Amino acid sequence: MAVAGASGAPGTPEGASVEFRGVTRAYGSTRALDGFDLAVEPGQLLALLGPSGCGKTTALRMLAGFDRPTSGEVLVDGRDVTRLPAHRRGMGMVFQSYSLFPTMSALDNVAYGLRVRGTGRAERHRRAGELLELVGLAEHTAKHPHQLSGGQQQRVALARALAVSPRVLLLDEPLSALDAKVREQLREEIRRIQLETGLTTVFVTHDQEEALSTADRVAVVRAGRLEQCAAPEELYERPATPFVAQFVGTMNRLPATAEAGGRVRVGAQSLPVDGPSGAAGERVTVLVRPEAVVLQPDPAGTGVVALSTFRGASTRLRVALDDAPTGPELIVDTAPHLAASTPLGARVSWRLLDRPVLLDRA
Ligand code: ADP
Ligand code: MG
Repeated sequence: MAVAGASGAPGTPEGASVEFRGVTRAYGSTRALDGFDLAVEPGQLLALLGPSGCGKTTALRMLAGFDRPTSGEVLVDGRDVTRLPAHRRGMGMVFQSYSLFPTMSALDNVAYGLRVRGTGRAERHRRAGELLELVGLAEHTAKHPHQLSGGQQQRVALARALAVSPRVLLLDEPLSALDAKVREQLREEIRRIQLETGLTTVFVTHDQEEALSTADRVAVVRAGRLEQCAAPEELYERPATPFVAQFVGTMNRLPATAEAGGRVRVGAQSLPVDGPSGAAGERVTVLVRPEAVVLQPDPAGTGVVALSTFRGASTRLRVALDDAPTGPELIVDTAPHLAASTPLGARVSWRLLDRPVLLDRA
């Protein structure tokens, strides 16, 4: 179907901008959101990423209009919608649980929102049929939810959210109940449809891989506050805080000692610190990516390769370390052809690539 088909007139920009300004939502003494700031550009897919309980669903509910902030504002296209009721905000929403009407066919589920708005039967069925085709369910329009798999039900839910031509699409962990294979397929599908429709989309997930692989920008949320919002590559390469560094991708934590001149000593190496460093002599912890550790076969080394996992483009090694202060193990990613020289059981020494390290200040 046409690119503009899911939303609005052809040729017009489909996406609205979205902004949270200092949004706080208190439940008694709990602050689900605590001065939450975030801006989403028109047409972007933004992933809201964070651990369970950090406020992701609360943020989405504020945007949808299902709940009101205790303080702060929510803006859509620069207009303050904080006090606008949900049905006047033009949001399409998909939840984690399938939440379809069990007694209605897929077609009627998708057409439901249009029926409520008074769209005629022929027109709403035509549009629902188009949307079911868009989500790959052209053959299943007459089926009821219990006759559809979990993945298919979420496709129907997605078509239903798109049917009302929303200005913003909100997805609250839509894939978490599905198995890995279906999850990956459907997230690619969501991205394809989002790009086709140009809909501004906020996609909530606690899965960093899902966020990094699907989104234009990823907003990491911690305890009701925005920790960092950046493109996936930037978030991974230049995490603004130790929390982001630990939450996105894998990090080794290694004990080190701060030195003068913005450097730290890790084992026998002296490395520059990315960001503020400690006072000379202070004991600190550095965060190091698996791909920033280099192994060397060494009979006098302090580590033993305990596990080797081939991952196609790279091999991940787990190295058990004898020197207690360094902690129990080091995770190392290496090119598969290099991993051959450090097989399972091999004794190794390790060093870090000479590049700036992050300090864990948590
Ligand atoms: P997430 O979606 O990131 O897992 P939520 O936004 O659902 O987190 O919840 C954030 C915090 O607010 C949690 O501590 C949760 O227990 C609390 N919370 C959410 N909704 C309510 C509510 N209706 N009443 C009381 N506490 C709530
Ligand atoms: Mg949630």
